[in-house]
Amino acid sequence: MFAVADGMGGHDAGDVASALAVAGLRHFEGAAAVDAGSVISALQEVNRAIFEHSASTARGDVMGTTVVGIALSRDEAADALLVFNVGDSRVYQLRRDELVQLSHDHSLVAELVEAGELTPGEARRDRRRNVVTRALGVGERVDIDEWFVEPEIGDRYLMCSDGLTGEVSDGQICDLLRSGRAPDQAAAALVEMALDAGGHDNVSVVIVDIEGVGVGLDQAIDADTDQHGTVPAAGEGAGDRP
Ligand code: CA
Repeated sequence: MFAVADGMGGHDAGDVASALAVAGLRHFEGAAAVDAGSVISALQEVNRAIFEHSASTARGDVMGTTVVGIALSRDEAADALLVFNVGDSRVYQLRRDELVQLSHDHSLVAELVEAGELTPGEARRDRRRNVVTRALGVGERVDIDEWFVEPEIGDRYLMCSDGLTGEVSDGQICDLLRSGRAPDQAAAALVEMALDAGGHDNVSVVIVDIEGVGVGLDQAIDADTDQHGTVPAAGEGAGDRP
């Protein structure tokens, strides 16, 4: 399983929330494959834990985290990747040089784009772009998107926080992912690009290459990660950290 969680909330609340999400997923560490039901219930468990934690703090800060991830799944007969998402972190697939955003952003600007009230370009610059409409820990229950993808040899999967996609366009991401760099180097280069472009938010990037299918899935993956925390600019969701 590979995942990115991007916390939100002041006074380090975002750090706590994203750490709770990652801790909840650690349960799957070392498993060759997972079943979707267990992943979803683990995330619901995380949701409750964050919600209760934030209710127990006197400050009443909103506290939550996005989570996006992929995992080898045993739900389907053939090799399959379970993909899950809550919030505005993203998972992309690069297949035969074509980059596709697999996840749907749970954000206000995404809803406005869908409603035809903003263009994607306007959404990237809109001051409300950090408003997330779904996150772990904000309510008693959360609706988690989950679906399956059939992996192919040569596929490359990118998971990232909005600190990357807020600074770097899909076209630039696509060019970089196609550049033939190893996952760790490509991840580091993307973080670098986001920082060079302004680095207004923390940037977390995970890249996973599919090197084989049907060969014992635990041997089929080469992945590496890179992340870099930056201090968010004032007024830009301060305290929003990986
Ligand atoms: Ca963020």
